[in-house]
Amino acid sequence: MIDNTTPVTRKAFLKQGLTTVLSHLAQGLPGFDLIQMGTAVIELTVCTAFQGSGCRVCYDVCPIQDDAIQLTEGLPQIMPDHCTGCGVCVYECPTPEAIRVVS
Ligand code: SF4
Ligand code: SF4
Repeated sequence: MIDNTTPVTRKAFLKQGLTTVLSHLAQGLPGFDLIQMGTAVIELTVCTAFQGSGCRVCYDVCPIQDDAIQLTEGLPQIMPDHCTGCGVCVYECPTPEAIRVVS
């Protein structure tokens, strides 16, 4: 959901819009959960959730939330057998290098 109440940069606006479109496209594709492009990996020493930030952006944006990524005691956990490697979580993560997709 695009927040219309606070000013955003053009880059942030485009990023948020593209992520939303990707997520909706993914949800609408039959068999999306069967596509395998790679697997997301969280770098625990970089991800701020593991330092207590409470961040859960990757979980919130995942098109197949609770299958590909779950929250365990508030911390994101990738489920390799279900993650498609779509990259939406990587694109939306606010912390560089905290999450990536590997083949
Ligand atoms: S969005 Fe990034 S920083 Fe936030 S919990 Fe996920 S991997 Fe960690
Ligand atoms: S790459 Fe990220 S957004 Fe895509 S299915 Fe895997 S955990 Fe979900």
